Amino acid sequence: MCTFLSNTTIPLTTPNFFETKWQSLFEGRNEALVTLAMIFISHEIIYFGRCIPYLIADKIPSLQKYKIQQKTIQNTSENQWKVFRYVLMSHFLFELPMIVGFHPIAVYFGMAIASVPFPSLPKMAAQVFLFFVFEDFFHYWAHRGLHYGPFYKHIHKLHHEWSAPFGLAAEYAHPIEVLILGTGTIGGPLLWCWYSGDLHLVTTVTWMTLRLFQAVEAHSGYDFPWSTHNWLPGWSGSEHHDYHHMAFTNNFSTSFRWWDHIFGTNKKYIAYKERKASELKALKAKKAM
Ligand SMILES: [Zn+2]
Ligand SMILES: [Zn+2]
Repeated sequence: MCTFLSNTTIPLTTPNFFETKWQSLFEGRNEALVTLAMIFISHEIIYFGRCIPYLIADKIPSLQKYKIQQKTIQNTSENQWKVFRYVLMSHFLFELPMIVGFHPIAVYFGMAIASVPFPSLPKMAAQVFLFFVFEDFFHYWAHRGLHYGPFYKHIHKLHHEWSAPFGLAAEYAHPIEVLILGTGTIGGPLLWCWYSGDLHLVTTVTWMTLRLFQAVEAHSGYDFPWSTHNWLPGWSGSEHHDYHHMAFTNNFSTSFRWWDHIFGTNKKYIAYKERKASELKALKAKKAM
């Protein structure tokens, strides 16, 4: 949709390529159905697509030195297949109904759905960053709560079936956990929408995409030189979350390291890293002799 100057036919903005495509997706169709299809299909493509590089890496011997846990091997074809089937079932049975409820709630909170122009890139980046911060804080406390005795036993234990996780295992979780942690993902955009009245679906979809990238990488079990935490200060990444799966404690946050640092839930992790570093130093000294 073009915005026109008064008394003239010169458009203020012409829809760009992506805005035109976005408009054509919704034109003449049911907005709720298009939103549902867009979120569900993009979720499937991004989640499983993001796992593919790690599945390929599993088959390349020279990359195995980047596996964080060298002794515990759980990324076997059998386990990957088991997790793939469970996650696919979970997407259809548990996540799809949640996504069905997304459109009416988003409209209620005033989210812009089919309209263009899109927000500016700086605005989108700022909002996505805000959602990362909100989700990380929510996730930290919800995840810490899920480690409380009965909650762990009946809900979170399933996700911890893998002490040496792999990408596909990111969403291998009990449906109640999916609901609780999913609230952190969608809660930020809805609260922001309610507070500011200024949020577009395209920003929400961008946020969900980046959140999926984060979750799969955190569970990948690989610490490559190019892994996000090696170039983005404060980012948790695979090395941080892998320890949580290995030790069943500490490192409860998901995207950033600061909450575990502030609330003192990274002490065992820090001690482990120091121990590993001194072991490596001793080994190098022994080899040099
Ligand atoms: Zn946990
Ligand atoms: Zn995990």
